[in-house]
Amino acid sequence: MKVAVFSAKAYDEQYLSLAGNGLELCFIESRLNNQTASLAQGFDAVCVFVNDQLDSGVLNTLHAGGVRHIALRCAGFNNVDLECAKQLGMGVSRVPAYSPEAVAEHTLALVLTLNRKLHKAYNRIKEGNFSLDGLLGFNLHGKTVGIIGTGRIGLATARLFKGFGCHVLCHDPYPTDEITTLGGKYVELDSLFEQADILSLHCPLTPDTKHMINQQSLTKMKSGVMLINTSRGALIDTQAVIQALKSQKIGFLGLDVYEMEGDLFFEDLSNQIIQDDIFQRLCTFPNVLITGHQGFFTHEALVQIAQTTTNNLRLAAQG
Ligand code: NAD
Repeated sequence: MKVAVFSAKAYDEQYLSLAGNGLELCFIESRLNNQTASLAQGFDAVCVFVNDQLDSGVLNTLHAGGVRHIALRCAGFNNVDLECAKQLGMGVSRVPAYSPEAVAEHTLALVLTLNRKLHKAYNRIKEGNFSLDGLLGFNLHGKTVGIIGTGRIGLATARLFKGFGCHVLCHDPYPTDEITTLGGKYVELDSLFEQADILSLHCPLTPDTKHMINQQSLTKMKSGVMLINTSRGALIDTQAVIQALKSQKIGFLGLDVYEMEGDLFFEDLSNQIIQDDIFQRLCTFPNVLITGHQGFFTHEALVQIAQTTTNNLRLAAQG
């Protein structure tokens, strides 16, 4: 099977090549979109990542060029027009479970860094400023954490928060026994908004969940709430969140994902002016910490992603 691997970074080449016995992998640096879809002409499958765009136009071009399978090397699939893929008879596979701990641990890293202001402290120490002014944090122990979405990552995150002695409240249309066994409690969404000191998002991006954090839901939250999003950027109405940062309704914001990340994330733009006013505004708040969609980025997760993705491709090749 000939596979065009889009958005390919050096680490993709390294991990996929190691796991890709029997597959002919061609690594393409560009993102898959309307301009680049023709590069997949003559390939049997494409392998894509979170910011590749597979709308109906792209899918039709891929299909016309002979592509019959789309292998997502990620869990989320909000970037694929699944209905169109189905109509064209194209198979779609993804990696539903690869080290949920990687993203859960990154979530906790964001919480602890923001709370103990490690990002500030790191820079200050390097400048010779050893004072504690402005570095006051709070104990996680005894705080109430609200987890939205208790699938693989939400559950792993709930476990970590429990380990810190937090009260864990959860919301998910499909509650699981694992959460209640570890001492978590399912509540209605509004109740979770009202009680949480820390709110962490772990549900997929769907038409139902898009902008679930918006002006209206923000009014229900505690003043000074810490909001963490390691799931998908568009779960949050970023403009509304900026207003809530200004009014100090949101005390801390930790983002591993960003609504408009498609044009920015995963690229080294350090010598360029970033033409994104919303992103620039977010960066002006000292209580905002943004990482560039790196929650998944551990050795263990990359091994698992490569193995599952290449297995999915081999299965697709067998029909
Ligand atoms: P999962 O499918 O195991 O769990 C998602 C959970 O969300 C399910 O239990 C589902 O019932 C629940 N859910 C669906 N709609 C909901 C709603 N309206 N309200 C509350 N809960 C709802 O997925 P997962 O592996 O835990 O991944 C969660 C999300 O994390 C993915 O969708 C993906 O977007 C994101 N993710 C991010 C990274 C990263 O690097 N930052 C890596 C992997 C996944």
